[in-house]
Amino acid sequence: MRIQLTSEQLENRSRFGAFAEEHIAPLAAASDRNGRIEMSVVKRLARERFLGSRVAVSFGGDGLDMISYGLLHEEFGKACSSTRSLLTVHDMVCEAVERLGNENMREQWLPLLTSGERIAAFALTEPASGSDASSIATTAVLEGDEYLITGKKTWISFAQLADVFLLIARDGEHGTMAGFLVPADTDGLVVRPISDILGLRGSMLGEVELTECRVPASSRVGSPKMPAGLIVATALQLGRYSVAWGSVAIAEACVASSFRYSSRRYQFNVPIFEHQLIRAMLTEMLAETKAARLLCYEAGYLAQERKPDAVEATLIAKFFASKAAARISADAVQIHGANGVSKNYAVERHFRDARVMEIIEGSTQIQQITIPKYGLRSYSENR
Ligand SMILES: Cc1cc2nc3c(=O)[nH]c(=O)nc-3n(C[C@H](O)[C@H](O)[C@H](O)COP(=O)(O)OP(=O)(O)OC[C@H]3O[C@@H](n4cnc5c(N)ncnc54)[C@H](O)[C@@H]3O)c2cc1C
Repeated sequence: MRIQLTSEQLENRSRFGAFAEEHIAPLAAASDRNGRIEMSVVKRLARERFLGSRVAVSFGGDGLDMISYGLLHEEFGKACSSTRSLLTVHDMVCEAVERLGNENMREQWLPLLTSGERIAAFALTEPASGSDASSIATTAVLEGDEYLITGKKTWISFAQLADVFLLIARDGEHGTMAGFLVPADTDGLVVRPISDILGLRGSMLGEVELTECRVPASSRVGSPKMPAGLIVATALQLGRYSVAWGSVAIAEACVASSFRYSSRRYQFNVPIFEHQLIRAMLTEMLAETKAARLLCYEAGYLAQERKPDAVEATLIAKFFASKAAARISADAVQIHGANGVSKNYAVERHFRDARVMEIIEGSTQIQQITIPKYGLRSYSENR
């Protein structure tokens, strides 16, 4: 067994890290303060082919392998979780279109998405439907060669920026979940910004209301015969992987800041690093960060190899990493003392961002319900 990045993955990590340090990190605090990410950053991300980077080169993507894709999210997430979140939602849409869309849809949309000419958002959650996605009330009714979509979505990341939504609705005919590419300028579609949230404040959240929005029948992603829920599962699988790495990113940034701070801050005539209780926290933080990253590597490896265990491994990676990020960022704030609750250090922002990671892409409790189902299957098979 070897756990070693290839030379290409190492190069990718340096490239991602250098970009994040130069172009993302300097704007992260302002992004958090202003509740938005700058268009100049979005354009730069597009120019460097960081949007839709998993998509095949023939459609304008970078064809990144899953490990490099994870490293991209770690490097960007260390700098700014909101910017990392743009990649998450945009790429979830790219993934669904590339995997499930037909040839026409791929040819029409993927070059627009990978070039950043169109920014995409993923719209599943509704005011009365969160963890229980199967309870969505938005409907899509086929009328001739058009679907008529009516409903309300909420907590949609980058709704304020998106040119197109991958909108999940209930198929009026079969009652099953279906996905539609709905341009933001469709008649009857209104976006209302949601601001002043605790974490991921730069992710330009919005509510999306649709009143009899007409989209061509060809906007449906995948065929009506596709298994119910496949569209959501496909998008969420990538989203979860990305959020797992984004959680490792927060943890890593907090660990790094805590080691730096604790070796420079003196109390009782020694750097606080010398106090055993501080070291105890640092030990937990370091070990949990490494463990979370290893789970992400495993999930990435299995996904890259298209192994069936990839889904379970990704759920576990997301579950563990998001909980670890919440604990580690809380300890990081503690180690930084009063500075930890001020804007002087990024750990304050990481702490708030980490809270969100346990809620999105399947909350911790939903993972606790889902993961044992996979566990039971594999353990009863092995007996
Ligand atoms: C910053 C941010 C960005 C987001 N971006 C998007 C996006 O881009 N697109 C999108 O569609 N959605 C998005 N969401 C919504 C997100 O996916 C939901 O918040 C999430 O699915 C949880 O739903 P809920 O908030 O309605 O909580 P609820 O489902 O109401 O859950 C409330 C609490 O109850 C717990 N709970 C629920 N069911 C059970 C159960 N069976 N057993 C035990 N406990 C349970 C949950 O874990 C949680 O703690 C975003 C949310 C946030 C905060």
